[in-house]
Amino acid sequence: MNIQDFKEIDPGERLLLGAGPCNVPPRVFRAVAAPSVGYLDPYLFGIMDETQELLRALFRTDNTVTLPMSATGGGGMETTLVNLLEPGDQMVVGVNGLFATRICEIGERLGCDVVRVNVEWGRAVPAERVEAALKGKSPKIVAIVNAETSTGACTPLKDLAKLAHDHGALFLADTVTSLGGIDVSLDADGVDVAYSGTQKCISAFPGMSPVSFGPAAMKVIEARESKVPEWYLDITMIRDYWGPARKYHHTPAINMIYGLREALRIVFEEGLEARFARHMLNHRALVAGLEAMGLSMLVPAPERLPMLNAVRIPEGAEDAKVRGALLRDFGIEISGGLGELAGKVWRIGLMGYNAQPRNVVLFLAALEAVLRSQGVKVGAGGIEAAAAVWAT
Ligand SMILES: *Cc1c(COP(=O)(O)O)cnc(C)c1O
Repeated sequence: MNIQDFKEIDPGERLLLGAGPCNVPPRVFRAVAAPSVGYLDPYLFGIMDETQELLRALFRTDNTVTLPMSATGGGGMETTLVNLLEPGDQMVVGVNGLFATRICEIGERLGCDVVRVNVEWGRAVPAERVEAALKGKSPKIVAIVNAETSTGACTPLKDLAKLAHDHGALFLADTVTSLGGIDVSLDADGVDVAYSGTQKCISAFPGMSPVSFGPAAMKVIEARESKVPEWYLDITMIRDYWGPARKYHHTPAINMIYGLREALRIVFEEGLEARFARHMLNHRALVAGLEAMGLSMLVPAPERLPMLNAVRIPEGAEDAKVRGALLRDFGIEISGGLGELAGKVWRIGLMGYNAQPRNVVLFLAALEAVLRSQGVKVGAGGIEAAAAVWAT
């Protein structure tokens, strides 16, 4: 080993238009660079309280137990399931993409009876399908992925929450990609428990997972027969550090909390409704541009997410070669398809800070140039079509 071979980190600039992470605004970089303090420092407690208040406002909930886990989105998923489920419990999951299959996988590892409501990838989960699966059952949890990042489909929460409650179940929602990009109203929609991630539409760094447990979910946890099998993810112990008891559990990711708080300040300076509208407008511009070029979207228009756009790979285009050229020649990252959609779609993220007209223009122009250079026929006028959307 020669330490001279280990260069300073300098990846150059990237425009992260994939399925996450997305680019982080300069203010968030500055916030994480502030000096660390101790985990019992009163200054940190003030920052933690404010972060929780901002997260409650973003989740649109009064849930006391709303906090960011020191874990990624998948860790948030695991946190909610590991605290609520005990061996032998039943869970019904609407499965319309990769992340829903992960919920099933965790449930099975916990020794639960997981009922999968399988739906075509690229479509929302219809309430009727879940209703049919619930007939005669009273599972502990009904779970759904609000924004299925593997396909770009949006499944609304309200009707499914009502169905869950009608069958005596808690309603759990994955809001990793939706939170900060479309309306997520836990209390109004009846969501009992939710988790998210910081690196998608919140536009903070990857590595934290906001979670929120409502009163019904906390009641279920308090009535457990067995201890939560994961000490690190035990929400009642973590609550006792984030709440007034301030009981040490683990050293939190102090500087990441600074960064999350700054990203949330940015969210609320813009305003939620303005932020959702910005995501929708730039999504419409992107879709108009792609369609003008002759490409077609995977998800039917009424079920599309604004922040994750799955477009079919056009005839004659080579998936990896196109994505490689976008990254090498333009510094733009987009994502390929996952699972059964591998090689069939590209996933273009316009998340949080990145949902901006200039990114849409740059991407459309770069894609057109790359496709042409690789001999793929594309229509002209993509940027004009996008501009027409912004002009209205
Ligand atoms: C990204 C994502 C996750 C996982 O988040 P990680 O931070 O990668 O662990 C879970 N669910 C959905 C819907 C996601 O988009």
